Amino acid sequence: MKIFPIIGLEVHIELKTKSKMFCACSADHFHVEPNTHTCPVCLGLPGALPVPNQTACEWCLKLGLALNCEINSQTFFERKNYFYPDLAKGYQITQLQKPFAINGKIFLNDHQIRINRAHMEEDTGKSVHLTLHGEDVTLLDFNRSGVPLVEIVSEPDITSAKQAKEYLNKIQQLVRYICISDADIEKGSMRCEPTINVKIETDDGQTVYTPLVEIKNVASLTGVMTAIDFEINRQVEEWKTNGTTKNDTNKTTRGWDADKNQTFLQREKEGSADYRYFPEPDIPPIEFSQFQIEQIKSTLPELPDAKIAKYRALNLSDYDAKLLAQNSDFASIFEKVLDNSTDSEFAKFITNLLIGPLKTISLDIEKINPDYFKNIFDHRNELNSTSIKQLAIESYETGTDPLAIAKSKNLFQISDTSQIEELVKKVIANNPKAVDDYRKNSQSIGFLIGQVMKVSAGSANPQLAKEILEKLLN
Ligand SMILES: [Zn+2]
Repeated sequence: MKIFPIIGLEVHIELKTKSKMFCACSADHFHVEPNTHTCPVCLGLPGALPVPNQTACEWCLKLGLALNCEINSQTFFERKNYFYPDLAKGYQITQLQKPFAINGKIFLNDHQIRINRAHMEEDTGKSVHLTLHGEDVTLLDFNRSGVPLVEIVSEPDITSAKQAKEYLNKIQQLVRYICISDADIEKGSMRCEPTINVKIETDDGQTVYTPLVEIKNVASLTGVMTAIDFEINRQVEEWKTNGTTKNDTNKTTRGWDADKNQTFLQREKEGSADYRYFPEPDIPPIEFSQFQIEQIKSTLPELPDAKIAKYRALNLSDYDAKLLAQNSDFASIFEKVLDNSTDSEFAKFITNLLIGPLKTISLDIEKINPDYFKNIFDHRNELNSTSIKQLAIESYETGTDPLAIAKSKNLFQISDTSQIEELVKKVIANNPKAVDDYRKNSQSIGFLIGQVMKVSAGSANPQLAKEILEKLLN
């Protein structure tokens, strides 16, 4: 029996616009006194009229472009009707027929994940369950109601929990790069709902598909992976027990219990007919001209994939290139230090500094002086690795030329052959016993090198000292 997981992901991204999707209330809802960022529109009061947030629409379009989507230049909003306590109006304003963006794709290494759509909608309020005066109550907070939300729906092209995580990392990186969301899973500004089933090829040549399951309420990246793995196994086991396949039943929704690490049945999934979608009568259709789309396109920064390719062209490893491109701030720092140089040795040198000793400092791009890095690089052969690290940190922190620091602290190594030869001769003359030892056992050269370092106050190039010792003693 062979098992092939089929996974699609719905990702919700809260946009970090100043105001909400259809009113002027602040969209910031973290650590805010409940129900203080509300108005008749986001409370769903009768007669209140929604006005779309232009920035949010433009950002959704921008994301669509970053996801290599086709843009629907003519689009409209729809009402999705359902009842839930935190949905004040009894419907959510969203998009079904004409999303802002469709038919995109992203790449995880060489594996293509197709993007079905990216559409614009509004977030709901929040139900807060707690015990008050000994009674279990549910309180409602509408600060989040109406916060702009983009939903990105992938095709079921993901084949494992690990790949789902890579996909989510990629989406997160992308929306952060284009500065439209913090995409913080723990805070809920990025949420993910996997839909999973499994293709099973039996030993006697049959192919069956297990029923579709959507998983809700997974609140962390590790949770998503664990939930997917759990569900794959559960579906295979269930099929072994009752033989139910995709054709026998509707899609179901299962919740994720993070304490027990298992999914549990919530309900049979509604079809879109159950939501009685219809065009939102209070908002006219939206149209973007080709010129407007081109203008939004021109605001896209260089995206991670392009950066990685550029860094690979500098002969950096795939690992280093990805690490440097991981966030746009870090990539900008690297590019500022690199200062348009195409010297791959220099690129590797500063990569090692940035992902090594400088990693622990939160670098301020304004404070970075590319010349200082160049100076350290040009004199790297006269410096040992400890001095290089020290100079990189100290010159950054004090804003001082590393060469001045190296001179004042005597960090330059003596690499002048005749100078070292003088020192070596002195050491040989003063240590006859150690010289004897060396002649019996060449391993004991370490002691003599140590003596050279000692008489040079640590500034002799140890490799050179060793070579000259060997030359003079053999
Ligand atoms: Zn409002």
